[in-house]
Amino acid sequence: MLEKKLNIMAVGAHPDDVEEQFGGTAMLYSSKGHRVLVVSMTNGDTGHQILGRKELADRRRKEAYAAGKVMNTEYKILPIHDGELVPSLANRKKLLKVIRKFRPDIIFTHSPAEYHPDHRYTTQLVLDTSYLVIVPNIVPEVPPLKENPCYFYFSPGKPQKSSFNFCFPIDSVWDRKLLAWHQHASQMYEWLPWTMGILDQVPVHTKERLEFLSLWRGKRFVSLANEYRPWLIKRYGKTAEKICYAEAVYSAPVGKQVGMNRKEIEKLFFCI
Ligand SMILES: [Zn+2]
Repeated sequence: MLEKKLNIMAVGAHPDDVEEQFGGTAMLYSSKGHRVLVVSMTNGDTGHQILGRKELADRRRKEAYAAGKVMNTEYKILPIHDGELVPSLANRKKLLKVIRKFRPDIIFTHSPAEYHPDHRYTTQLVLDTSYLVIVPNIVPEVPPLKENPCYFYFSPGKPQKSSFNFCFPIDSVWDRKLLAWHQHASQMYEWLPWTMGILDQVPVHTKERLEFLSLWRGKRFVSLANEYRPWLIKRYGKTAEKICYAEAVYSAPVGKQVGMNRKEIEKLFFCI
């Protein structure tokens, strides 16, 4: 019997956040036929040193959709200004509607202590939808879910104590993850290098740009593979010593808890 396909939802604050923190895993899920929806809570209209809001929002929407094509995922950008996201009731309802329409089995989002207020409030808003997703009288225009999804955070770097951790080797999709990132040219080759004073180091041609991205932005995923190495070896055996890049997640304390339910874990994570 064929296993039921999953609905996987990944919520970031800005277009490019999910690509960065979860892009490889998103592609592992989508390549196995699972439905994946990437949501950006804001339209990303502040991250640029030259472009104004309207022009930047238009450009970033095109970049995000192109990245979604590379990852083979659906992509939704909420019309909220970058840098102005607040965990309001109105925004909670907007997100509840998106969740109910998509009916995810798992929702992944930022870990709670990230650097940017939009990231922290994204986490808050995602957590605030738990339980309410099953309550019919809240947002009554969209039918409620029958049960809560599982909620997981993107790992900040190390396995988290007293949580359920899971690590995904992404070597097989690393080149495609770079290609998804590469679509966000306004960020990868303009805004972020400008904020770091390395704009003069950005190459012009695609091949060199991808190498530049891999060296510059890839370190975090090499580090994740190293930090989770004992976990990876336990799961994959000795071959895991050779894994170069990994993404990782850990459970949030809300929603459906997979805990030590082996069957549930296999259904949600061992399918990719
Ligand atoms: Zn962001």
